[in-house]
Order: sequence, then C-alpha cells, then structure tokens
Amino acid sequence: MTLKIWSQVCKNLEKSLGKNNYHTWIKPLSLISLDKGKAVLSVKTRFQGDWISRNYGDQIKIQFSKFGIEVFRLEFKIETVIKADNNVEKTEPKKIILDRGSTLGAPLDKRFTFGRFVVGKPNELAHAAARRVAAGDLTAFNPLFLYGGVGLGKTHLMHAIATELRQNSLDLKVVYLSAEQFMYRFIQALRDKQMMNFKELFRSVDVLLVDDVQFMAGKDSTQDEFFHTFNALIDQQKKIVISADRAPGEINGLEDRIRSRLQCGLVVDLHPTDYELRLGILQEKVDNYRVQYNELDIAKGVLEFLAQKISTNVRVLEGALTRLFAFSSLVGRQITLEMAQESLADILRASDRKVTIDEIMRKICDYYNVRMSDLLSPRRSRSIARPRQMAMYLAKNLTSRSYPEIGRRFGNRDHTTVMHAVRKIEDLKSQDSQFSEDVELLRRMLEA
Ligand code: ADP
Ligand code: MG
Repeated sequence: MTLKIWSQVCKNLEKSLGKNNYHTWIKPLSLISLDKGKAVLSVKTRFQGDWISRNYGDQIKIQFSKFGIEVFRLEFKIETVIKADNNVEKTEPKKIILDRGSTLGAPLDKRFTFGRFVVGKPNELAHAAARRVAAGDLTAFNPLFLYGGVGLGKTHLMHAIATELRQNSLDLKVVYLSAEQFMYRFIQALRDKQMMNFKELFRSVDVLLVDDVQFMAGKDSTQDEFFHTFNALIDQQKKIVISADRAPGEINGLEDRIRSRLQCGLVVDLHPTDYELRLGILQEKVDNYRVQYNELDIAKGVLEFLAQKISTNVRVLEGALTRLFAFSSLVGRQITLEMAQESLADILRASDRKVTIDEIMRKICDYYNVRMSDLLSPRRSRSIARPRQMAMYLAKNLTSRSYPEIGRRFGNRDHTTVMHAVRKIEDLKSQDSQFSEDVELLRRMLEA
C-alpha cells in the first residue's frame, strides 16, 4: 500500500519537477517507512538528502497530501553498500569532478527561468543585467556581481542565466554551483589527489556562476583556489557571475584582493520587494499552479492580504502559498480570507515587522546628527523638522503603530501632524531621487 502510494507520488513529482530534476534527485530515492506523519527515504549521501529536503521537501509533502497522507517530517537515511570484501562503505560520488560540462556544477532548477521571474522596481536593474549576460554578451561587464537579502531572487536569476546560455549556445560550457559546492569539490579533489584535474576543469569553463560567495568568508584555502580560478577565467575573457547576500565590501573575512576583483565588474543589488512586486509574484505562482493542477479557488483579497502582510522574502511568500495550495486540495472549497489567516497564523506572526519607534528615533538622530530631545521638542526649525518628519514617516511605514500613537511618541503631537509629515516625505521622495535614496538607505539600515 505505502509503496504504491510512493510510486504515485513519484509520478506526480516527475510532472511537477520536470524530467531532469526528477531523474537526478527523486528517482534514486526509495521509501523506507511512512509512519505517524514521518516519511523516511534512503539517499546515497548527506548532501543529496540536504539538497532534496531544501529544494523539493515541500513538493514531496504536497504530493503525499494529495493522497490524503499528511507528512510533517521527511527524514533521509544514508544508504550503505556491502562490498564483496565485506567492508561497509558509504557510496560517495567520488568521480564527480571528473565529469564534464554540466555535471561539474549543480543541476539547474527548471522553474527558475526568466519567464517566471516577475520584474518590478526593486529588481529591475539586476534582471536587466542578468538578461544581458544571458543574451550572450559575454564582454559586457565582468564579473557581474548580484547581491541582496535572502529570498530576493539571486539564485533564480543565476539559474535563469545558466539555462538560457546553455539553450542558446550549445558549445558553451556553462557551470553553475554554490560557493559551498565549490569548496566541497575542492576538498574532494585534494583528498583524491585530483587537484590538476580540478584546476583544469574549472579553467576550461566558458561561463562560471558561483552562488552565495559570502560562504567563503574565512575559508582561506577555498578562497585562494577560487581566486586563482577567477583570475584565470577573467584573463581568458571568460564570463563570471557571482552572487552574495551583501555587497563585496561588506563581506568580512574576504581577502582584499578578492574583494577588489569582485568589484571591478558590475555590482547590482536586489532591493527588498515592495507590495506591487509581491502581489505580482503571488499572482504568477497562482496562475502557474492553476495551469498545472487547474483546481484552485481563492477568494478576492486573499493575495492582496498576503502581499501586504508578509515580509520581503519571496521564499516565505512562496511557503505561505504552498501551504494554501495544500490546504485547498484538502478542503476542496474556496480559500477565504479567514481560512488563510488561520492556516498561516505562524507565518503572519513571524513576518510582523519588528522595528520599534525607539530604534527609528535613535537611527535618525545618528544619521542627521540631531539630539533626541530636539526631535521630541516643539522646535520647528528646518534642521530638526525634516529629520523628525523622516522619523515619523519611517515609523508609519516600518511599524504597525497608528498615526495617533506615533504622534504621542513624538512629544505628544497631533495625529494630523504625523499625516502631514508622511505626505511631505512622500512628496520629497517623488521629486528628488537623491532624497529618495536616503530614505531607502535608512529603511534598509533599520530592517537589517
Ligand atoms: P535568493 O537566492 O536570493 O535567496 P531565490 O532565488 O532562491 O532567492 O528565491 C527564493 C524563491 O523566491 C525562489 O523560489 C524564487 O523562484 C522565488 N522568487 C524570488 N524572486 C522572484 C521573482 N521576482 N519572481 C518570481 N519568483 C521569485
Ligand atoms: Mg540563493
């Protein structure tokens, strides 16, 4: 019975994840047990288990739920093989570094395409740069360095670049991998005395995309190796695309020579998502879900509510939707706002912005070099009024406090004063791009 369900689940996974991903990751799995909401699956390596859990865990759970089985936990057991001489040995993909082409890197998620990347103000620059590279303009800017907070689409864009290049230029050797995997391969090569091979392989790449380089911070020998690979490729005018969760200059533990080389191309950041972008993304995911499963009934206003309430991280947004999808397939009726609120209570709570008015005031005092007592005083000279308005504006935007509450905190002012301040800052933002950048910078410092 269980095995039969597993093979059904596999069939559906093949459809939803695509043939490639399915064959690489899901097919080799076997179900060991399924009991009390826990499914145990066998894998060959820990890496495999981690990867599957991170990338396909939700999908696997959803597919189980379609057969009325709620799986809350996935566990991966590492398979051991008994060799003829009775030595028990873990099967590890030792020869992986000897493979050519795409197997040198990590597999690409076929959902991460340009077609499915929703473009909005916060990511339009990064998107445009990524498109440029994907179009084969390998000389444009080298390296391209994409950075931004968690879940803002860096990995998605990198996969999209790699996929498109591979499709359009069959003769190009395009390798995508995370910095962690780079290190893994490097250590493996050291251990297996395959360093020459390793170097040769990485130096024969035409386009190298390395994700999450902040991971290399403090890992000196990996950095060193990366640096040499990097230089060799740049010297041969090969293309490099890098991502990190922060700007090159802000990655502590990164050697200066690497930092400066990373900065010599184009550095673009993905800004935190705004409401419009979040709504666009939700809409795209819902449309896509409908195309695949065509049964989904969501009441008006639910997506708007989620876009409003859930923080900037798109992954969290997706997690919420995934749960709604699973929920909808279980209850088989329309998802209403109340149902959404209830089933997503934990996510909604965690997304509540945690910036406080105190923090905002302190940051503003710092930034504009004014005293706290002045900020709260009745003084109206411009050098104080403007920072005060800015602080009120940020308090309105980053906390859930109401106009009257904010007024009270700022020396017992009337709520109309706060409303006026918010409008004033919005006006200035739209007239003056420098000012608008200041606001953005402050917001980011506070949310960091
Ligand atoms: P990062 O690598 O920056 O942490 P990811 O690229 O892994 O973020 O994105 C997290 C999830 O959000 C992915 O499933 C990705 O497809 C999705 N996502 C992020 N940005 C967008 C976007 N602009 N349009 C559609 N999906 C997005
Ligand atoms: Mg990523």
